[in-house]
Amino acid sequence: MSQITPDSEATPAVPAPHDGASRRIFIGLAVGVALGLAANLLGNGLWVTEAAAAVADIVGNLFLRMLFVMVVPLVVSALALAVAEIGDLGRLGRLGLATLAVTAVLSSAAVLIGLGLVNTIRPGEALAAARGAAAVEAASTAADRVIEQARASKALREILVDMIPQNPLQEMAGAIDGSSKGNGMLAVMVFALLLGAALAAQPTATAPLRGWLEAWNVVAMTVIGWGMKLAPVGAGCLVFNTVARLGLDAILSLFWFAFTVLAGLAIQLVVVYPVVLRVFGTFRPLDFFRRSAEAMQVAFGTSSSNATLPTSLKVAEQNLGLRRDAARFVLTVGATGNQNGTALFEGVVVLFLAQVFGVSLGPGQQLQVVLMAMLAGIGTAGVPGGSLPLVAVIAQSVGVPAEGIGIILGVDRLLDMCRTVLNVTGDLVVAACVAGREPAQTGA
Ligand code: ASP
Repeated sequence: MSQITPDSEATPAVPAPHDGASRRIFIGLAVGVALGLAANLLGNGLWVTEAAAAVADIVGNLFLRMLFVMVVPLVVSALALAVAEIGDLGRLGRLGLATLAVTAVLSSAAVLIGLGLVNTIRPGEALAAARGAAAVEAASTAADRVIEQARASKALREILVDMIPQNPLQEMAGAIDGSSKGNGMLAVMVFALLLGAALAAQPTATAPLRGWLEAWNVVAMTVIGWGMKLAPVGAGCLVFNTVARLGLDAILSLFWFAFTVLAGLAIQLVVVYPVVLRVFGTFRPLDFFRRSAEAMQVAFGTSSSNATLPTSLKVAEQNLGLRRDAARFVLTVGATGNQNGTALFEGVVVLFLAQVFGVSLGPGQQLQVVLMAMLAGIGTAGVPGGSLPLVAVIAQSVGVPAEGIGIILGVDRLLDMCRTVLNVTGDLVVAACVAGREPAQTGA
């Protein structure tokens, strides 16, 4: 058994969390927003604001690095140990299928909500009427880098073949910064699944390796625990920089676009998640959100599902009382594979850009956007801005000019913070539904 959570009694009836950490992060975020607004109002040229932005940039990124530095060892050890602890292939299959089913329900609901709103509010038409040509021109240079990344994207055959990495070390090396040649984090996850399955198949012969992975898991959680001590300040600094640099112009001209995305995310959060929790799960929604608050705040501060994974694991085990093996499996897979906030965002952006450029998409093409956005939610790296290259791919596939992405870059980080909250909460919702339904385990 791993030692990261000695008190892993899996019962949903765990006492309410002792949420000092959550309160501190909340205060850090609130201070970051307030100071960021003040800096924004003062203007960007002043030495005070420039100096504050430079310090906040360094501190915020050091905090992110303290989380990212252990993400690959954490994903490999947590996923391999989860599979090994689950042991029996039948149970693993049932867990995998249940995870897939709840994920599909959540992400299809998310994309449909997004498309419903974007077709009703029609934010792209408002922008095109106000300042279409100017916006589009400014956009194309800013979007070059994203489009370059999107061009590097691969054909379906390659994606499928690359699911099994040729060289797992190479995939691990490029998993976070997107420089891997294969499928990056997805390939690392497949490697970890294989590792865990082999541990389960040969428990006696592989016992030392399992002990080694458990030790790595403890190391990863310990280092990340140190990093999390920086969370109130680090997340506050990241939010400060986002708010301070956010041009009022960008917000105003993209008001209806941002409103559409945020309204969609809000509906998913306060309607879809509670309904799914009620139908499949064992939690009262308000209680669930209270217990999950720490993970939601870290997601907001970091804009990264992967950086939030350790906090989600802790929340699932200690605050929600979910079964450790199942929760580890669902959350580790979900940090990359279940991103319904991102799926919603990707669908909205593509239709928004279609409206801006006057490209009319028929029902067939809209359906294509729905399916591609759902799949892109699986393939998106859980890092800040991870969805942008995939937005470019979807846009190009339905004939919408991808350089339009530049239009939304000015507000992207703000929306990224919000959609990452949805992504992480969605993972916890799936874990609450699936892990809560697992039959009691008799020793692992
Ligand atoms: N930042 C998101 C995440 O980590 C991915 C994205 O939508 O860009 O979940």
